[in-house]
Amino acid sequence: MTYEVLISDIQNLINHEDDPSDDIDEFFSAPLGVTPPKGRRRRSANWSRGSGGDYYIDDELDFYWLSPMGRYATHDEINTWLRTIPNYQPDLARVIDIGYSFEGRNLKVIKIGSPGSNKPAIWIDGGFHAREWIAPATALVALYGEDDVVTRLVNTYDWFILPVANPDGYVYTHETIMFYRSTNHKTGHCESNLFARCRSSRPCSSTYAGERPFSEMETISIANYILRRRTRFKMYISLHSYSQLWLTPWSYTRKEPNDNDRVLRVANISVEALTSVYNTSYLTGSPAVIIYSAGGTSFDWAKGVAGIKYSYTLELRDRGHYGFLLPRRYIVPVCEETWQGIKTAALQLIDELF
Ligand SMILES: [Zn+2]
Repeated sequence: MTYEVLISDIQNLINHEDDPSDDIDEFFSAPLGVTPPKGRRRRSANWSRGSGGDYYIDDELDFYWLSPMGRYATHDEINTWLRTIPNYQPDLARVIDIGYSFEGRNLKVIKIGSPGSNKPAIWIDGGFHAREWIAPATALVALYGEDDVVTRLVNTYDWFILPVANPDGYVYTHETIMFYRSTNHKTGHCESNLFARCRSSRPCSSTYAGERPFSEMETISIANYILRRRTRFKMYISLHSYSQLWLTPWSYTRKEPNDNDRVLRVANISVEALTSVYNTSYLTGSPAVIIYSAGGTSFDWAKGVAGIKYSYTLELRDRGHYGFLLPRRYIVPVCEETWQGIKTAALQLIDELF
């Protein structure tokens, strides 16, 4: 197996960062939900930069200011906020509990879409891997804005978004600051890609995949939910970090799927759109070809078993300088560029649907 080491000594990075205390403080710092000064309220929602250099969201709805967007929120904060959204958007948003984690936490999916039955659907999850905090943070900024593109995408699709696919692991990383010793974790199920074959059989390894395929109840709930609607789902996206990759199937083999041309083409066009926002460069292709092969990834399952043609894994910023410790100031740019890419992918698919 070939591999590339992105960070050889993460503790050393933490110790010798230009101003380590600043970055770590920023990573764990308080909410960005700064209340904008009076007079700054606008009808349309937009990211704005506050006087202190922080970002906040201009909106007439107070809940956005208290929202978990733009920061590394706790699982409770995320779920509380998800429950709030339908109060403001009763026609567009619904929160669905699709199951429970091992420790009894709700797996909350937010469904966003204009009314209509049996619409084509798109699934997005984040947080399968607990320490990849940028993934849930990005998943939360779903379809933000009121422009024509967002309207079209909400009219065309039902979006099912699960920001935290592994709540127990996410809570654990928040409560124990797991990043400093990122290969340790409490139980096997925290850090794993759970969908099929194990990458590692050692329970204390960060790539431990569980005792057997579908040994974890989170995975079973997610898989069943998707399978029951498999004909509706047109795209599956799993958000991870880091490396700046838009990955196409397969993970487990270098062999290409039959429809690879089209799947890769959509990835390339989406990455072009993503890059156009902040000039962040991404690679596209299958993990087996551009990084290393790995069994048991959720997007292999989504394509191979659930039959979702456009199944992708996105490895978000960065390329290893901060790695899992991506400072807070990058959250909003990552959200903006990633959603530009995802929206572009969804638009690309429309041609095929109708
Ligand atoms: Zn991951």
